[in-house]
Amino acid sequence: MSKHEIKVGILGATGAVGQRFVQLLENHPWFRVTALAASERSAGRPYPEAAVWRLDTPIPEAAREMSVTLCEPGLDCDLVFSGLDSSVAGPIEAAFAAAGYAVVSNSKNHRMDDDVPLLVPEVNGDHCRIIDYQRKRRGYDRGFIATNPNCSTIGLTMALKPIADHFGIRQVAVTTMQALSGAGYPGVPSLEILDNVLPYIGEEEDKMERETLKLLGRFRDNRIEHSGIVVSAQCNRVHVQDGHMECVSVSLEKETDTKGLAEALRNHRGLPQELGLPFAPRHPVIVRDEPDRPQPRMDRDAENGMAVTVGRIRPCPVLDMKFVVLSHNTIRGAAGTAIMNAELLRTQGYLD
Ligand code: NAP
Repeated sequence: MSKHEIKVGILGATGAVGQRFVQLLENHPWFRVTALAASERSAGRPYPEAAVWRLDTPIPEAAREMSVTLCEPGLDCDLVFSGLDSSVAGPIEAAFAAAGYAVVSNSKNHRMDDDVPLLVPEVNGDHCRIIDYQRKRRGYDRGFIATNPNCSTIGLTMALKPIADHFGIRQVAVTTMQALSGAGYPGVPSLEILDNVLPYIGEEEDKMERETLKLLGRFRDNRIEHSGIVVSAQCNRVHVQDGHMECVSVSLEKETDTKGLAEALRNHRGLPQELGLPFAPRHPVIVRDEPDRPQPRMDRDAENGMAVTVGRIRPCPVLDMKFVVLSHNTIRGAAGTAIMNAELLRTQGYLD
């Protein structure tokens, strides 16, 4: 292990998001996985036995040799990524932060705490500065908690950010078609989803409506001022393995046309691209001109699953403009964004 590498642990390493962390962190230039943790059901067992591996690449060699431990401070690492079930994530993540670990989480528990950054690096990377206030307020010396939003909110805000910057947004109406992997494993029973669409995903609409406002808000005077945009979300589960699709209509403060909106999206670059972070896609938003794109099977893996794809940009007779956005829910919508959050935090000095 080189002296520049940072030791990382994965909490919830056996789950759907945990497995993505294990997969995506293999060969990461800055981070080396040194601990895998999960529940009492898995603790003490070899990782390949405790985790029923569901991804289409083999279990990384290093993880194959490791045993699962309990999610308790004392792990041999400085940073933990959390893919913990939300029924347990809150106190476990707080205990790790208090014990001096950097905690970068996917779970919902701390997302809306007013001293915790809710981050998508291309959208609001500057919000990470609230960590200084968090440490002071909670008495953490080295540790902290940073979070990423819900998977469908990540795809949505990646598209909204350049539009808000160029034209200003008043209202957003979004209808999602969300993949099965978003429900973890074993997830939705097959007899409920075969030949069917489920028009309800618990808490999802509320998360999209609230988290979007924090992400598009402004960091000022140790506070995150939430955006005043009005967001209405309708969330559906569909029979797709990976890739959340979202149909979005927006009303704008400044008029534009299809070409203007496409250019703003296509040219968008953020902090990850400026800083050349290892997980940064070259083009965070890919715009497709074909009338039948994006599609989950064809577009979810764009730029290794880290780019979102927007298509079908056209005027909306009710609001001003409408379009379709697609993102890979367990890569860009979960583990991939969390890893890039940690990369950003390292460049900003929070992992020193
Ligand atoms: P999952 O497949 O059900 O995995 C849950 C993980 O939590 C497992 O590793 C499990 O370990 C562990 N766990 C459960 N109870 C525990 C306990 N009492 N103590 C310690 N560990 C415990 O869920 P997931 O889909 O990966 O989701 C994980 C988190 O990420 C959730 O909060 C979810 O809302 C969020 N998220 C998921 C997605 C997605 O696309 N799936 C996207 C964004 C965010 P055992 O195997 O030992 O039970």
